Order: sequence, then C-alpha cells, then structure tokens
Amino acid sequence: ANFIIGLTGGIGSGKTTVANIFAELGITLVDADIVAREVVQQGSIGLNNIVQHFGEQVLLADGSLNRARLREIIFQDASQRLWLNSLLHPMIRETMLAQCKEAQSDYVIMVVPLLFENGLDSLVDRTLLVDISPELQQQRTVARDAVTAEQVKNIIGSQASRAEKLSKADDVIDNQGEISALKCKVQALHNLYLSLANNS
Ligand code: ATP
Repeated sequence: ANFIIGLTGGIGSGKTTVANIFAELGITLVDADIVAREVVQQGSIGLNNIVQHFGEQVLLADGSLNRARLREIIFQDASQRLWLNSLLHPMIRETMLAQCKEAQSDYVIMVVPLLFENGLDSLVDRTLLVDISPELQQQRTVARDAVTAEQVKNIIGSQASRAEKLSKADDVIDNQGEISALKCKVQALHNLYLSLANNS
C-alpha cells in the first residue's frame, strides 16, 4: 500500500483498541512498538551495533538484549542516549516504511504513540488522533497496568499536550464513550480512507 495513516494518541487513549477495529476491517497494521523490538532482536544489525558499542554487558545469558541494563546506561548518560537514538530511529523508520510498502490492504495504519513528538507525522499521508481527557487516560491506564496515577501523570506530562495533538491531527476519534461506539466511528473513517487511498 502507498497510502499511510499515522494513528496516535497519548498513554491509555485507546490506540490499540482502535487499531484492532481497523484490522478487523482488513487493514494491515504497522506498529512502531513491535518494529522497535524487531530492529534489536537476536541476530539483527541493530543488536550487533549495540553490543559493539556497549559491550557484552548489554546482553542477557541467552544472547538477547538486556533492556533494563541499556535503559540504565542511557538514563545516566545523555550522549549515549543520543548515540542509541541515532542508531535506532532511522532503522525503525525504514523498517516501518518497508512494512507499509509490502502491505496488501488498500491503505495501512501505522500505529505510533509518539508520532508528533518524534516528527514521524512527516512520513504519513494523514494523521488520526485517538482523543480522551487526561483524567480518563489516568483512570484507564491505572485499571490496565500495575502503575500509580502519579506515574501516569508524569508520562502524560512527558508527551505532547492534548491541545497540541488536536491542533496537528487531520482526523480525531473521541474515545471517551463506550467501546461499542467506536466501531461506527472507525467504519466512517475507513470509508473516507478507502476513497482517499483510491484517488491518491
Ligand atoms: P498505550 O499507549 O498506553 O499502550 P493505547 O492507546 O494503546 O495505550 P488501549 O490499550 O487501546 O490504549 O486502551 C487503554 C485501556 O483502556 C485498555 O485497557 C482498553 O481496554 C481500555 N479502553 C479503550 N477504549 C475504551 C473505552 N471506550 N471505554 C472503556 N475502556 C476503554
């Protein structure tokens, strides 16, 4: 497919829930979180580069990446963090674009939590924001994960503001209602995206 929709939204907004409805309609998903793991899986160029740079200390006994150790290193050293990002970000971008190109559906949904924050909106043809209030983000994330409201609040604070994302997105899905109400909204967007994709 060569028509790409960038799906984004803050923590706990409902990106996965919305993406799964598009998938049920036959649309291929390309997920930034999954690609970020693929580029450092065992045997990958990404993991080899990381081991060359940081040494075997960043490997677990089974040869896979020790994420906790790597996180610790880059947390303590901003220059190492920059090094790692400049290695991985281009690999993640290229892999996502390659997966989009291979996809057989009429258009592709690229799911990217930090789409605007990381400037990945420049890679897509159109952006779709899943929008809920910060209060609901907190409530739903605390119900889903073993985290405190305070921790969720800090993550929300580290992401682009609701207003900024609303001003940048081409399309917005309000996910403050019931999950059952989402299907209709996704179907309407699906129809729009099919016509945009087929006229592009
Ligand atoms: P993250 O970026 O944090 O992984 P996400 O944006 O992918 O989150 P989801 O995992 O889809 O969000 O949704 C967050 C939680 O809220 C999940 O437990 C999900 O089942 C629930 N949820 C999603 N939409 C609704 C809704 N409309 N009403 C009630 N609960 C919802």
